Amino acid sequence: MSKPLNQIVRKLCVLFLVLSALSCGEGLPEYENALCITNVAMIDAKNGLREYRTVVVQEGRIVSITHKDSVRLLSNNEVVDGTGNYLIPGLWDTHVHFAYDTILAPSMLDLFFVHGITSVRDTGGRLKSVKPYKQMAEENPMDLPRVMMAGPLIDGTPNVYDGSSDRLPPLSVRIESELDVVEVVNRLENEGVDLLKAYEMLSEKEFLQVMKLAKAKGLPVAGHIPLSMDAISVSEAGMNSIEHMRNLELSCASNSDSLLQIRRQMLKVPMGIGGSVLRASIHKAQKEVAMELYDEVVADEVLDIFAKNNTWQVPTLVLNGVLSFDHVTREDWRDTFDLLPDSLRKSWHAGSKRIAVMLTNNASWKKSTDWQMMMLKKVKAKNIGIMAGTDTPIAFLTPGYSLHEELYLLVQSGLTPMEALETATLKPAEYFGLENEEGLLQEGFLADMVLLDGSPLENIRNTRNIQAVIKGGKLHDMTALEQRKRSLRKR
Ligand SMILES: [Zn+2]
Repeated sequence: MSKPLNQIVRKLCVLFLVLSALSCGEGLPEYENALCITNVAMIDAKNGLREYRTVVVQEGRIVSITHKDSVRLLSNNEVVDGTGNYLIPGLWDTHVHFAYDTILAPSMLDLFFVHGITSVRDTGGRLKSVKPYKQMAEENPMDLPRVMMAGPLIDGTPNVYDGSSDRLPPLSVRIESELDVVEVVNRLENEGVDLLKAYEMLSEKEFLQVMKLAKAKGLPVAGHIPLSMDAISVSEAGMNSIEHMRNLELSCASNSDSLLQIRRQMLKVPMGIGGSVLRASIHKAQKEVAMELYDEVVADEVLDIFAKNNTWQVPTLVLNGVLSFDHVTREDWRDTFDLLPDSLRKSWHAGSKRIAVMLTNNASWKKSTDWQMMMLKKVKAKNIGIMAGTDTPIAFLTPGYSLHEELYLLVQSGLTPMEALETATLKPAEYFGLENEEGLLQEGFLADMVLLDGSPLENIRNTRNIQAVIKGGKLHDMTALEQRKRSLRKR
């Protein structure tokens, strides 16, 4: 054989060897003891939709995202064929209360988990009723959702959730002076809260004291706009998430200044009146009037301040619309009551039936829901952050399931499905400064994910079609989730 021909044959042989090695996966990266989800469509708020990917998870983190055939699978890999499925970041419910119902509380972590909720923000309850669940979650980071907690509602005098009835469990601590604020906030910081929650009956001085201390300690403050204040001063003081858009209408009316003066008079009541009664009487006197006198210019001014200060909104449409929509009376909703502890099932069925009766006579609720959905469109248009939250388990909102309804209602209010997903994934991560760690499907990010059957971008209802939940890198497939549901039914 001549020398040049010899060289050509040798080169062809090398090429053949390389090609045959590639075709059986040799030369491709491989990952020992990894979870590999192959040929899956991925969706997140930054990278959009990426199809035909293989996602590799090791030691709780996403270590590789490649085209479906670019990883060599090993016999020690746990492989999930993701063909036809959609992978999204784990969901957050940013407004929950473990302390609201002590019978339900021990089931809540599992209820969230089987519904794809991998993190929650507890927005108010005494530490002894919330902290044990946060600790339990910290001890089982691959099996339970993470809990961020605010501790008790920091409320003024008289306080609303004072333990005077089942409907008003003792979720709050009553502040009587600015000195009380110092004592309470220091104590909460020592107990390891992740944020503070300021409530409706605080005086302006007390509220500003909460904000001052929170800023010094680097704690975010969520809450309701105190009745003694207007929305602009609350935003300027730095409250960074307003829950339920509560009391916002009072600051968006043409007569908002005089409404504030009247409220301050109404708050000067003799001792002995309960916080809930006083709050209800002020709402009754002002809410509808304010919505009737809604002023576009005043509202724009308020929302521009929110945008400037990053005053985010947690609209909890699923709570506010409970008397306007029919969700808790729907059959699929009532089916979720099967997962509740035995002793609660009956009362939740009866309660949701009562709501069905109230639905026939709900003109003022409907007005309020319509107003809120209108405002939410403006909030979105001004690029103000929105987070998905529910207020579960108040108003028969089943933990976990109700978050999926919130996502649906956010889409009904004008968000795109992708924007709705962002409110329950990337936005909560940003809220806690974790946006470089989680909330997206990226290499290096925490492997908290949900595998869905059906694209949530085509129909947001598909977030309910859960095939698997991945928490801290551990796969919980349908069999595992069904088993957990069975154990919930037996409680
Ligand atoms: Zn709440």
